[in-house]
Amino acid sequence: MTPDRIARAAREVLGYPELRPGQHEAVSAVLDGRDTLAILPTGGGKSAIYALSGLLIEGPSIVVSPLVALQIDQARALREHGIGAAAINAQLPDAERDEAIAQWADGALEILLLAPEQLTDPERVAELAAARPSLFVVDEAHCVSSWGHDFRPDYLELGAVADALCGRGGREHPMPILALTATAAPLVRDDIAERLGLREPEVIIGAIDRPEIHLSVEAHHDEEIRDEALVAAVAASPKPGIVYAATRRATEELEAALAGAGVVAAAYHAGMRAKDRTAVQEAFMDGDLEVIVATSAFGMGIDKHDVRFVFHAQPPESVDAYWQEVGRAARDGEHAEARLFFRPADMGLRRFFAAGGLKLAELANVAEELSRAAGPADPRTIGRACGMSSRRATLAIQRLAEAGGLRLGTPDGPTGDDLADIVAAAVAAEHRRSELERSRVEMMRTYAELRTCRRAFVLSYFGGDPPPRCGRCDACDALAAAGDATDQDVQPVFPAGTRVRHERFGTGTVQHDDGTKTVVAFDEGGYRTLASDLVREGGVLEPAG
Ligand code: ADP
Ligand code: ZN
Repeated sequence: MTPDRIARAAREVLGYPELRPGQHEAVSAVLDGRDTLAILPTGGGKSAIYALSGLLIEGPSIVVSPLVALQIDQARALREHGIGAAAINAQLPDAERDEAIAQWADGALEILLLAPEQLTDPERVAELAAARPSLFVVDEAHCVSSWGHDFRPDYLELGAVADALCGRGGREHPMPILALTATAAPLVRDDIAERLGLREPEVIIGAIDRPEIHLSVEAHHDEEIRDEALVAAVAASPKPGIVYAATRRATEELEAALAGAGVVAAAYHAGMRAKDRTAVQEAFMDGDLEVIVATSAFGMGIDKHDVRFVFHAQPPESVDAYWQEVGRAARDGEHAEARLFFRPADMGLRRFFAAGGLKLAELANVAEELSRAAGPADPRTIGRACGMSSRRATLAIQRLAEAGGLRLGTPDGPTGDDLADIVAAAVAAEHRRSELERSRVEMMRTYAELRTCRRAFVLSYFGGDPPPRCGRCDACDALAAAGDATDQDVQPVFPAGTRVRHERFGTGTVQHDDGTKTVVAFDEGGYRTLASDLVREGGVLEPAG
């Protein structure tokens, strides 16, 4: 593929004089027929990657993304650039949907945008497969990973869907898969590749850093004082801004406290009626609100350029989630502030949320139902029989399938002892998973308690190789104020990226080492923080080949 072809299309079709880091490489890998995982920060221009890939690759393309409202916007944006596109969702009348699919199959439309639930119907998948799609794009690909921070059970089937779309086992026709996400730590990255069935994927990492965002942490022990400090900081900061809080109640309390301080603020959370939520979001987008106080339900697909701060009243459940939320600031490239108001006790809250894994009884009940079911496994029916939500039942079915090679949707599943083995394997896997989740929470604590450069920590968490000091965080500010006197004496034991072996936890990759803490992402057990002094004395970690 000549690079000029991509750059020219970017100029002539999208009107971008230049491509951003990662964009060109990703399109180029796709056009070479490679499965590709591209990680670009929010606002980094992922849409342009699938637009150009879809346009330049011969044949029709499918784009899966999680939000219907977003698909409609994206389809419109593509059409405005003269790229034929349609969004298909459950709200669309059947006749319009059939018409759009027919046009797409005929080559009159380049790109079809779909929500994942559109692909749960095997007939629909067969219909799309008949058009021999030449590209399958999964946007917000971290949603496929239950290790990620925004897991969606609907995404789990996308690997199988991709197989069905191109007869991948036999490779009846080539169809690269392009997975796009804003954030994926190495562990999540591997999980995405595995679950989507990517083959020797080209992994492209755009600029993860957002240098225009200053990072800081403010620690408080008392909840009331923390809230007062947060409100005062919001009142004193340039606006608009976003305040993230962990619970619905916290968003509402902060809304009231901010109003008391004369800030025009509104709460946003998933417990509100859709109509009210939309109204709050629109008011914020239109500049009628200074501050939105939201749970993590707010933000995906939000493209507001002038957000001047993102404050967190409580730590999110992972560094991945934190960086994605922080990334909603400063899209215009002007200065913004990301401050975490940290109360150590709030980590307990996060651990509580992280502990929502499937229980033995749930897995056993679902396995029992599965073995009895005489047809395809319907999560709703199974969920009802087991007293679980269909979302949770879907998860249990998937876990059992992973643990035992249980074929979903076949009547002749295993029974008896086999079933007990599968349940036991699923429970063990669930245990490992919850350990990992706990360890991700601990990474957030490590971030909050750092005395060294916060950005260096985040960037090495994402597998990069940052300079030791950014000069744009409170830790660097403190070092500069102290006249750089303090940072000569501690040296890292292992540079980030070193492969190491631990007697008990096995092999892993050093994520961060500032000479006081050595953080390792173990291949099996997740993240662990070790005291660098112990590591330095020797015997704890060995370099691994
Ligand atoms: P993402 O999906 O990664 O969050 P988008 O694709 O929505 O980001 O792009 C964010 C903004 O950046 C959009 O306004 C888009 O027009 C713009 N953009 C993307 N790529 C480029 C580029 N190469 N040059 C200039 N602007 C770009
Ligand atoms: Zn720094």
